[in-house]
Amino acid sequence: MKFATKAIHAGVHPDPETGAIMTPIYQTSTYAQSSPGVNKGFEYSRTHNPTRTQLQDALAALDDGRHGLAFASGMAAIDCVMKLLKPGDELISTDDLYGGSYRLFTKVYEPLGIVCHFVPMRDLAAVREKISPRTKLIWVETPTNPLLNVIDVAGVAAIAKEAGALLAVDNTFSTPYLQLPLALGADISVYSLTKYMAGHSDTVMGGLVFNSDELLERLSFYQNACGGTPGPQDCFLVLRGLKTLHLRMQRHCENGRAVAEYLRQHPKVEHVYWPGFETHPNHAVAAKQMRDFGGMISFVLKGDKKEDAIAVLEKFQLFTLAESLGGVESLSGHPATMTHASIPPEQRRKAGLSDSLIRLSVGIEDAEDLIEDLAQAIG
Ligand SMILES: *Cc1c(COP(=O)(O)O)cnc(C)c1O
Repeated sequence: MKFATKAIHAGVHPDPETGAIMTPIYQTSTYAQSSPGVNKGFEYSRTHNPTRTQLQDALAALDDGRHGLAFASGMAAIDCVMKLLKPGDELISTDDLYGGSYRLFTKVYEPLGIVCHFVPMRDLAAVREKISPRTKLIWVETPTNPLLNVIDVAGVAAIAKEAGALLAVDNTFSTPYLQLPLALGADISVYSLTKYMAGHSDTVMGGLVFNSDELLERLSFYQNACGGTPGPQDCFLVLRGLKTLHLRMQRHCENGRAVAEYLRQHPKVEHVYWPGFETHPNHAVAAKQMRDFGGMISFVLKGDKKEDAIAVLEKFQLFTLAESLGGVESLSGHPATMTHASIPPEQRRKAGLSDSLIRLSVGIEDAEDLIEDLAQAIG
């Protein structure tokens, strides 16, 4: 089945009771049993809920995976993967990681004895250098947030296999429409469903997709034991969002290209970070592992002054200044004070994250209106 058909049909079945085409919101915490322990596969909604089950099946199908799990947020999904680690185990990740993931790894798991290494992962040699017999998990995010570095997933997968470590790929920026981590050799595909997957900036949720039955046993145990599960209403919203994922992503990519090209020729713009440019250092890898290049773009202004960036952000009319990304509406952000404020300034600078960097999540509005907004704000 092709992607567009899967986005609409995969994992979702008419309601067995009524034939309702849309998955009902099973707003219930518990389920009647005909005799103690005899039930219809549902006992308690932290463990299983029919709306969540359909979403989990849809997520698995879109990623060409066998199992899907949904969580109350992207961070709860990431936290569930981290619970696979034991004190003394080592994690290798990228040095321009999503700020919340960096915070979880360093502020929650390092004090519990997990050793975390952050390396410039677009260089595979930097990953190999940190491999040790204690390496248990490699954590990739690609393209990265907010510098749009591209990491060679198949290349890292080969290193992970050799080391006997699990490979998780945070695929939030790409979605399965643009990139299929499991097919590239990853063990777990990780999502903040809050972003492109739900797509309408109306819910916070997370998800995991993987193939291994052993991982299903371990991860679903933590999902239930720790309880970071989503409510059925939120699952319904993500299910609804997924039905237009392919259409939205197509437009995000078209508008992304138009905005990136406009910014690149603007005399006041110093540099545009977007993997679709042939001059991007990892363009070839992006072209190999992605269907298209997405709608996330970052740029710095000439002179690299924080005040100039803030003035532009304050002038935007359509690119609303807000946290988050991947919704139908265009958003702008200032990573140094917003999404990446939890990364220490020194670490930020080391990763090349300038204080004047502006990040855009290009929405699915008319491209001409978006470019007009950029023109009036940058001046
Ligand atoms: C937003 C985001 C997360 C965290 O997800 P929440 O749904 O906000 O908990 C993780 N990774 C990336 C790349 C993100 O953009």
